[in-house]
Amino acid sequence: MIQLYQPLNFMGMVYREIKQAIIDIEKMFSVLSRNPEIKDIAGAAPLVVSPGNVRFDDVRFAYDPERPILKGLSFEVPAGKTVAIVGPSGAGKSTISRLLFRLYDVSSGKILIDGQDIRNVTQASLRASIGMVPQDTVLFNDTIRYNIRYGRWDAGDAEVEEAAQLAQIDSFIRNSPKGYETQVGERGLKLSGGEKQRVAIARTVLKAPPILVLDEATSALDSHTEHEIQEALERVSRGRTSLVIAHRLSTIVGADEIIVLDQGRIAERGTHAGLLACGGLYASMWNRQREAEAAREKLAQIDDGN
Ligand code: ADP
Ligand code: MG
Repeated sequence: MIQLYQPLNFMGMVYREIKQAIIDIEKMFSVLSRNPEIKDIAGAAPLVVSPGNVRFDDVRFAYDPERPILKGLSFEVPAGKTVAIVGPSGAGKSTISRLLFRLYDVSSGKILIDGQDIRNVTQASLRASIGMVPQDTVLFNDTIRYNIRYGRWDAGDAEVEEAAQLAQIDSFIRNSPKGYETQVGERGLKLSGGEKQRVAIARTVLKAPPILVLDEATSALDSHTEHEIQEALERVSRGRTSLVIAHRLSTIVGADEIIVLDQGRIAERGTHAGLLACGGLYASMWNRQREAEAAREKLAQIDDGN
C-alpha cells in the first residue's frame, strides 16, 4: 500500500505543479503572445541591457499587408532618457509599444536595444527588461495581491503593499472586503479602468525594469489622481529609459524629446518649447487641450457657485 501510495502522491504533486504551470503559461500567452508566430530563434541569447539604449531603425509595420500602419520610423531613446510619443488617435502610437515588447515583428527595419536586434534575443529576457503599462490592463481571476505580484514573483508582501501605495491603490485595496486577498475578475471584485491602471502601475513599480513603456498610463484617471500618480511614475522612470505615449500633453512637457506621430510617420520632433515655437501640429494640439481645460475649469467654478 505504502509502495503504491508514494508514487501516486508524487504524481499528484507533479500533476498539481504542471497544472499550475499550465495555468500560468496560458495566462502569459493570453497576455503576451497574442501572436503565435513570434518565436525565439534557435540559440537565442538573453538580452543584455546596459546601459539601456532603445533604437527604432526605419521600422515599417502593417497588421494587414494592405494597410501600412508605421511607414519608416527612426528614433532613439538614449539610456536613461524619456521620449514621448504623441499624436492623433489611430496614428500608430500603441503599435510602437507592441513592437518594442515584440508582440509582433516589424515588417522591415529593426528595433535595437543596446545594439541587439530584439528578434535575436529570447522573448523572456526581452519582456523581463521592459515594464509596460498598457492602455488595457488584463487582470487575472485571482487575488489583488497575486495581480500586483505578477510584476515580480519573488516580491514579499511588504514590497507588494509598498508598490500599491506608490500607485495610490493601497487604500482602495484595504477597503475591499478581504483586503489584499480579495478576488478580482469575473467572479470577484470589478475594477474600474483607473483602478486597473493603478494595478498595472504597481506591477511596474515592483518590477523596476531598466526600460519603461507607458501607454497613456494615466488616461483613465481623473486629473487629481493623475497628478499624484504622475509623481510616482516620474520617480519610477528616473534613470530608466522611458518611452511615454501620452494623450494629455501636460504630462510630457519635461520629456527629453517629443515625437509627433501622424498616420504612421514622424510629423514633428523636438522639445516642448521648441515644438510650441514651431507653431505646427503640436502647438495646435497643445492650444486645443489648454482651451478644453480652461472650459472645464470654468464649468467647475459655475458648479461650485451653485
Ligand atoms: P494609437 O495608439 O495611435 O491610437 P494604434 O497603434 O492603436 O493607434 O493603431 C494604429 C492603427 O492600427 C489603427 O488604425 C488601428 O485601427 C489599427 N490596429 C490596431 N491594432 C490592430 C490589430 N490588432 N489588427 C488590425 N489593425 C489594428
Ligand atoms: Mg493607443
